Amino acid sequence: MKPASNTRKIALAIVLCSVALLLPIWASLQLSWIQSELHERNDGFGYVHDVLRRAEKTADQVSHAVERINSSHLPPCSAQERDLMRDIDLESDYTQAVGRIANDVIVCSSLDNRELIYLDKPGLVTENGVKEYFHVVLTRNKHPLNVFAKDGVAVITDPDLPLDVSLNDNDISLALLVPSADGQHVLASRGDRIDPRWVRSLPKGEERTYNKDGYMVMAARSSRYDLAVVVASPRERIDRRVRHFALLFVPIGVLCGVSLIWATMYLARLRSSFDNRLKAAVRRREFYVEYQPVVDLKSRRWTGAEALVRWRTDDTTVRPDLFIPLAEERHLIHLITQQVVSLIAEDLPRLLKIDPSFRVAINLSPDDLRMQSTVEMLRSLLALEGVCPGNLEVEATERAFVEDQKISHVLEQIRSLGIQVAIDDFGIGYSSLSRIHSFRFDILKIDKTFVDTIGTEGVARGVMLPIIDIARSLDLHIVAEGVEREEQARFLQAYGIERAQGWLFSAPLSVAALSKELRERSQETVALK
Ligand code: C2E
Ligand code: CA
Ligand code: CA
Repeated sequence: MKPASNTRKIALAIVLCSVALLLPIWASLQLSWIQSELHERNDGFGYVHDVLRRAEKTADQVSHAVERINSSHLPPCSAQERDLMRDIDLESDYTQAVGRIANDVIVCSSLDNRELIYLDKPGLVTENGVKEYFHVVLTRNKHPLNVFAKDGVAVITDPDLPLDVSLNDNDISLALLVPSADGQHVLASRGDRIDPRWVRSLPKGEERTYNKDGYMVMAARSSRYDLAVVVASPRERIDRRVRHFALLFVPIGVLCGVSLIWATMYLARLRSSFDNRLKAAVRRREFYVEYQPVVDLKSRRWTGAEALVRWRTDDTTVRPDLFIPLAEERHLIHLITQQVVSLIAEDLPRLLKIDPSFRVAINLSPDDLRMQSTVEMLRSLLALEGVCPGNLEVEATERAFVEDQKISHVLEQIRSLGIQVAIDDFGIGYSSLSRIHSFRFDILKIDKTFVDTIGTEGVARGVMLPIIDIARSLDLHIVAEGVEREEQARFLQAYGIERAQGWLFSAPLSVAALSKELRERSQETVALK
């Protein structure tokens, strides 16, 4: 391996490892951030909803009191009406007192003292005509109360009651306000960091989260009353939460990153150990070839065979569909092909002695078809004594034609040697007809999957016949693969297919078994003559 490409690989590995490590860490930090904001928002809206519910209940009790007093039609400030006021007061947990009001003076109330209570001008008159007086001091301890007046009835409430929720943290601010009023009048608040303008654009019945002046702000506006609740949480709180979550998530992220790197390295080692194992297998000549006979369907004569590679490891034989795709992926297939061709070079003269027209088909992979040395290998086979181009055939999978147009050059050279080229596994679905048209080949191998459909309810005709038509229109010979039943052989023969292979005729055989069978068959033919 060149040092320059080595350095590039190391640099790439370092970059990939860093990404593999940093990416999960970055993701875990993101997750910590998202989780913190989510928790903060949930907590914040918990307070908002709680306060809004209490404020709405207070407003409900105010309007209920006004309605009850006015619908009782008792003489204003009479003893009966004052009894009723006291009843309402006792039943309503958010009202402090109920009374009669005229010209900003409470003339009588559920409070025991009979003095007149003079109020300043109302701080606010709402859209439904409720007059609101704020910071009214009625008690000896000077606790400010709010008075709501409508239709001559006054209801006195404690503005702090709706805010009476337990806050987990002192740095959270909370406010109940009248959003439609100029300056968004604050009815009550805890903490002083809330700017009433934050909720200026909040529509009725909606809730929003804002990022304002270093605070995460959660706000909701009542759909029934002119009320809104705002909670502001300083960003430092969220940062604290992020640190808390990061302590949990980042180690997990690091663990994921390290596992990812470990898994990648493990896979790379597996791959390189596969590479080494395969190269050693080539050196130790662990590959051998079996031949599956190809028969002439009309005479059932064995006219040739497909060479199929096998890998004999210490105790088992590995099937080619397990190692061929991996060898192709690792670009080591050419080593196998070289060994297969050299094994065929040993077997072919022996087979031709029995039947000089016998033809052996060799499977080539896309990589082989890109290499000039493949042509040289085939040329060396042709140089063997008694071997002519008609004794060889090359099979290339349909996939090869799709993957690389460059192979056409090698294919053309193979054809110019007089060796016929077959398209293998035809119909599996890789190529479009137009692509196949642009390559010149001689034989089409119909895949077993299509042969399998013969004899099943009408499907055979639907799938097989167009394939046969395509082959005919391209002037190709046809070989059917995977024939297992006599019925399939007869169907194929009826549709003019010349050659087939499959377990019906023979499984793949060792060269010794094939030679023996060929010899016996040729003796039978001589005897018949
Ligand atoms: P393929 O070229 O389509 O080979 C035909 C496969 O079908 C062979 O499997 C054969 O044993 C199997 N077969 C034949 N008749 C029947 C039958 O009647 N029923 C059933 N169920 N199967 C049948 P094998 O030997 O396991 O080969 C699998 C694949 O490995 C081959 O498919 C081919 O793509 C690849 N392969 C085999 N030898 C070589 C080789 O030397 N070079 C390359 N590049 N690929 C090879
Ligand atoms: Ca084949
Ligand atoms: Ca095939």
